[in-house]
Amino acid sequence: MTRQEIDYDALKKKGFLWSKHEGEFTLRTRMPAGNYASSHLSKLSEIAEKYGKGIVHLTVRQGIEIPYILYGKIDEVEKEMKKTGVLPGTSGPRLRATTTCPGNNWCKRGLVDTFSLFDKIEKRGIVCAMDLPHKFKIAISGCPNACTRVQSSEIGIHGAVDLTHSERRIGYAVYLGGCGGKEPHMGFKLDKVYTEEEVLSLIVKVVEFYKNNAKPRQRLAMLIEETGKEVFLKAIGE
Ligand code: SF4
Repeated sequence: MTRQEIDYDALKKKGFLWSKHEGEFTLRTRMPAGNYASSHLSKLSEIAEKYGKGIVHLTVRQGIEIPYILYGKIDEVEKEMKKTGVLPGTSGPRLRATTTCPGNNWCKRGLVDTFSLFDKIEKRGIVCAMDLPHKFKIAISGCPNACTRVQSSEIGIHGAVDLTHSERRIGYAVYLGGCGGKEPHMGFKLDKVYTEEEVLSLIVKVVEFYKNNAKPRQRLAMLIEETGKEVFLKAIGE
């Protein structure tokens, strides 16, 4: 089968990416909040041995990739993957895997439960591989150290202490409009520490605004530049 005959967008959406080597693909996987069980690692290792060249590669978005998979073996690998319980990653114009640090689950500096926030974002319908005008990334960190580089994602969230609150309540700081790539942008920080409900609602509004207004291949940073920051903030209720 030639490259022209392959529905590459469908393959990319479910985590199979072209390799530079003709006829070979790389399988990209993910797990919610980046948490793989040790049993997942054994099974992925078996897949890498059987269908790849015994190599697994860790991505910057907390995924595990297996390179050197032959096109003709993709169906078999998919079946094996389903048995592992590991989820496929994605690529292309859609929401990528959200990067999440441990937060207060085990990091001594964590202020918030990052895994729980991740689950709640998914429950609002903001899920990996949802189709969008271009790539879109969310990063969650448990404290202002921002180990998942929240300033470089479309939406970046970190746990923060609200110093304006009489009880110094713990909430969430939010950055919007960051991205890497050929035209990197630093996200700008919103002037507030949000409650959990507020931050969940804000995330939904930003994704909706992006989905409804961005042109194909336009990152959020460029959409905000084009729209004007004030107009954008007003549109998302800020
Ligand atoms: S961002 Fe904070 S909570 Fe998360 S890993 Fe870094 S230091 Fe720990």
